[in-house]
Amino acid sequence: MSGDPNYRPKSNFTDLFPDISGNTVNGLCESKVRRPSPFFWHPPDKQTHGALQQEVIAYHRQSPEMRKFFSSTPPGGRGPKPVPQAAEKTTKTPDAWARAIKEFALSHEGDLVGVTAMDPLYIYEGYEITHPHVIIVGVSMAYDELSQAPASFENPAAGTVVAKEYNTASRACRSLANFILEAGYDAKAWPGPYASALSMMPAAIAAGLGQLGKHGSLINKTYGSAFRLSAVTTDLPLAYDSSEDIGSEDFCLNCQICTNACPPGAISNDKQMVRGVDKWYVDFDKCIPYFGETLACGICLAVCPWSRPDTGPKLSEKMLRRRQKLAAQG
Ligand code: SF4
Ligand code: SF4
Repeated sequence: MSGDPNYRPKSNFTDLFPDISGNTVNGLCESKVRRPSPFFWHPPDKQTHGALQQEVIAYHRQSPEMRKFFSSTPPGGRGPKPVPQAAEKTTKTPDAWARAIKEFALSHEGDLVGVTAMDPLYIYEGYEITHPHVIIVGVSMAYDELSQAPASFENPAAGTVVAKEYNTASRACRSLANFILEAGYDAKAWPGPYASALSMMPAAIAAGLGQLGKHGSLINKTYGSAFRLSAVTTDLPLAYDSSEDIGSEDFCLNCQICTNACPPGAISNDKQMVRGVDKWYVDFDKCIPYFGETLACGICLAVCPWSRPDTGPKLSEKMLRRRQKLAAQG
């Protein structure tokens, strides 16, 4: 872990840290597979870091731009309210429904969409979801705004683009849920950024939207890490997508751009054991004060080479070709 040796977190956030580390809540160093615990983005009374969350949100809302987009009535709105479920079901094959919901999502503000089976490990402890299928929607973020990270009161562009596209993703998943309800099936929209029952990232990996990067976020072949997620869970019969190996894992193994660029040194160069899985992991306790001070930071997403427009497909092709070549050499 490198970072800025002169960076010191401000006490207005560190003073509100509870006795338990956020890394402990997340299951760092635990060897047993288990469901994730509610964390920082859950309702403050349902998690250990609620006071810190409230302080970070209040601080970010001192920026008029952040306040505008992080509101319940932002420009463009957060999407339609649920419609009643139609009494009669429209019948199609799972393949035809998967095509139909993708066509709908991509023409209603979604840029990416994938489908996977529900897994109990996608559901936070203390919550329940009975739907058997998960649809993940991705919405891209403008790279020219994200690349101005870190966000600040003087220039909040990298923070507001995150808030703005969470609102787009909210509209996209709520419209898609209504499309399914109108077809006679049950559906529930799961917008961000606040967390609820569904942990979207592992479902998004299984649905083929990206691979986990060293910076703890997803890397998608087209958008790199410049996108946001929302989801719909449903009983609509749907054909599933598969996870996609785009070669970003090989790239991360030999890249330290985000590790070096993260001022508090929260990004480790090595994978760590988290709830029984060896994976890239960002130190919560180091990241969150900087995230708070900078209006949602965004540095690691912005500096990742995969996030640069028109770069991901070329990197993916290169990494997969390189792997084939190394395999052929034995
Ligand atoms: S900056 Fe490099 S190491 Fe970090 S996530 Fe992107 S590709 Fe991986
Ligand atoms: S959001 Fe900022 S502080 Fe957090 S891991 Fe990324 S670069 Fe580091």
